[in-house]
Amino acid sequence: MSLISPWRADFPGILALEAEGQTYLDSAATAQKPQAVLDALLGYLASGVANVHRAQHLPGERATRAFEATRSKAAQWLNAARSEEIIFTRGSTESLNLLAYGLEHLLQPGEQIVISAQEHHANLLPWQQVAKRRNLELVVLPLDNTGSIDLQQAARLIGPRTRLLAVSQLSNVLGRWQALTELLTLARTQGALTVVDGAQGAVHGRHDMQALGCDFYACSSHKLYGPDGVGLLYGRGAALAKLQHWQFGGEMVLDADYHKAHFRPAPLGFEAGTPAVSAVIALGAALDWLSSLDHLTVAQHEAALHAELLAGLQRRDGVRLLGQPQLALASFCVDGVHNADLAHLLSEQGIAVRAGHHCAMPLMKGLGLSGAIRVSLGLYNNGEDLQRFFSALDSALELLR
Ligand code: PMP
Repeated sequence: MSLISPWRADFPGILALEAEGQTYLDSAATAQKPQAVLDALLGYLASGVANVHRAQHLPGERATRAFEATRSKAAQWLNAARSEEIIFTRGSTESLNLLAYGLEHLLQPGEQIVISAQEHHANLLPWQQVAKRRNLELVVLPLDNTGSIDLQQAARLIGPRTRLLAVSQLSNVLGRWQALTELLTLARTQGALTVVDGAQGAVHGRHDMQALGCDFYACSSHKLYGPDGVGLLYGRGAALAKLQHWQFGGEMVLDADYHKAHFRPAPLGFEAGTPAVSAVIALGAALDWLSSLDHLTVAQHEAALHAELLAGLQRRDGVRLLGQPQLALASFCVDGVHNADLAHLLSEQGIAVRAGHHCAMPLMKGLGLSGAIRVSLGLYNNGEDLQRFFSALDSALELLR
């Protein structure tokens, strides 16, 4: 299979980094942007900006139309039933915090929120804090050796007191797809609400919200080849209606008096203040770009690169993979070598990978590690990037051991 990326030339950022001698292997943290996204961003900013949903003048109407077009594209891309089921936020973190505040009133002392041992802090800390505020039990589903949530244990731990399940679709450390269909069914059987953290999963393949049947799905534009500062929160109509408002200000209100107010329903009721108009419009271009790709070619390229990455890591003595990653990334540690030292030597050789706890400290502690190196792939990466990484890894390990 081909290790040449047909899309590399679409990414000025990757070409600029390459010209500087940098090999970018950190797309799980944030992805480079295709030219179409840069064009949309600059095109909007240069053609006369305006605020959305407020003004009747031409620039205001134009901005509102482009902004709302992204909402429709996002709804289509996720196969939501209606575009009103898409709320714009600042990112996955804000989407998950919105949910933690918005659903808090439904949770009674003694009830359970269930998460899993692989969660990023963004899908742990908001629930941990709600659990503290409301005197709830936070239940953590354990993982098996591969990094998958143990379904037998999940069936035992998700019970009649479970009011909400929040799990990530694809771990940012272990790179495994979780068995969402089974997990969501377990939660739904108990009448619990379901939240999926799609921050890592969203960019790989297409995810059909109606088929998946989750109540909420959170993701971030910047990992979808779009700009930073904007995220999506999908909510199934009936579930959105249960959300309590959480941020208050302009454009989220139907009627206001000094001592009371009536708020808009979703989505606008959850988009208080001026949104990231330019970023939302450019996210529309990222979704167009992603939708224009041939999905088979994408899947083959992702699989071929990932297989090459795993094979190269597994061939090296003392390199220990974390779990059994299936896609897009691999995290590893090296016996007798500190991950920060290794990351430093890789960086000196122009290799951009992530080191540390990856915002999943409890997972790392559970694995008995203070940190690990993570290599993550974007559509622009190719076989030569991996060769440069492995050659730098060999030189670094020679120095460190
Ligand atoms: N969940 C997971 C699994 C992630 O990998 C990340 C980003 N690293 C987040 C949530 C938070 O995303 P953001 O920083 O874009 O809000």
